[in-house]
Amino acid sequence: APWDTPGAARLDEQTMATWIRRTAKTATAREALATGVKAVFSVEPADVSLLHVLFYAASAGGWDDLIDTEGGAQQDRIVGGSQLISLRMAEELGESVRLSSPVRSIAASGDEVVAGEVSARRVIVAVPPALASRIEYDPALPGLRDQLTQRMPMGSVMKCMAVYDEPFWRADGLSGQAVSLPGPAQVIYDNTPPGGSPGVLLGFLEGDEARVLGAATEAERREAVTGTFARVFGERARNPSGYIEKDWSAEPYSRGCYAGVLGPGAWTSYGRALREPVGRVHWAGTETATRWMGYFDGAIQAGRRAAEEVRLG
Ligand SMILES: Cc1cc2nc3c(=O)[nH]c(=O)nc-3n(C[C@H](O)[C@H](O)[C@H](O)COP(=O)(O)OP(=O)(O)OC[C@H]3O[C@@H](n4cnc5c(N)ncnc54)[C@H](O)[C@@H]3O)c2cc1C
Repeated sequence: APWDTPGAARLDEQTMATWIRRTAKTATAREALATGVKAVFSVEPADVSLLHVLFYAASAGGWDDLIDTEGGAQQDRIVGGSQLISLRMAEELGESVRLSSPVRSIAASGDEVVAGEVSARRVIVAVPPALASRIEYDPALPGLRDQLTQRMPMGSVMKCMAVYDEPFWRADGLSGQAVSLPGPAQVIYDNTPPGGSPGVLLGFLEGDEARVLGAATEAERREAVTGTFARVFGERARNPSGYIEKDWSAEPYSRGCYAGVLGPGAWTSYGRALREPVGRVHWAGTETATRWMGYFDGAIQAGRRAAEEVRLG
């Protein structure tokens, strides 16, 4: 566990911003490292503890595994969109999946737990800690558990896509993938569907870029994002035929992404409450994973671990 790492307290008392300032010698290196942190965590380096960054990278195998396309987390896309995974699983599960039924309270008494409309012997809460803290628990959760969830905010991301008749950058020999230190869309991918038409450039607004531009109008964001695309891929990128965007912080049942992030001191002071069941209430979700925390793989590992707890309990 991160809090058992040798020197954990020292690693956890500093933010990534502190570490970058102390370690990187040039302004470009500082900016590049900050962009990497924002791309992976969608927060500013000042928001996240060094220990959390180290744990997150270690849980995936290494930093390169997080940011690489070939052989890394960015390699594959799911044809039709990643929501298809949950939609197909829900089809198989049939009526046992209840949609549009947000759980607002969880009450345990004797050997029964009532979560929203459902009564069961045990409950697995598989939502990010920041959202789990919005559920009302009876009896109230232990202080350490509640205070942990007060320290795991979601990152800020807007996903912005510009649509063109064709992926024109490919004819220029360009991959469509870029990191642009002058933002605001610092991380860019070619999101053209497998058939090759239409051409789609995807730009992420992350951390402060999402917070600042999130308050602007859609037209202002479109201009800002296509401005980055034009700087990287040429003037043609400035005039897409369509523009689509999604603000994950505005989604009531996500409130940001890619996952909950731990600031300084959170792992070492509160981390042990992350997976510890509270009576008949168990915790899953990608934030509780020890492998690929923050990713789909982590969510699956966490689900299996929580299911095993319930089976043994
Ligand atoms: C833009 C974006 C890009 C990403 N890219 C990648 C990627 O390339 N690869 C990757 O592996 N991961 C990626 N992720 C992260 C990935 O989506 C998460 O790691 C994964 O979805 C976590 O799964 P989960 O089951 O833990 O939580 P979630 O997927 O957040 O599921 C929680 C579910 O609980 C529901 N819920 C919330 N509150 C309540 C409530 N009170 N009652 C009932 N239901 C509730 C929500 O609606 C949601 O369906 C990305 C995320 C985003 C936003």
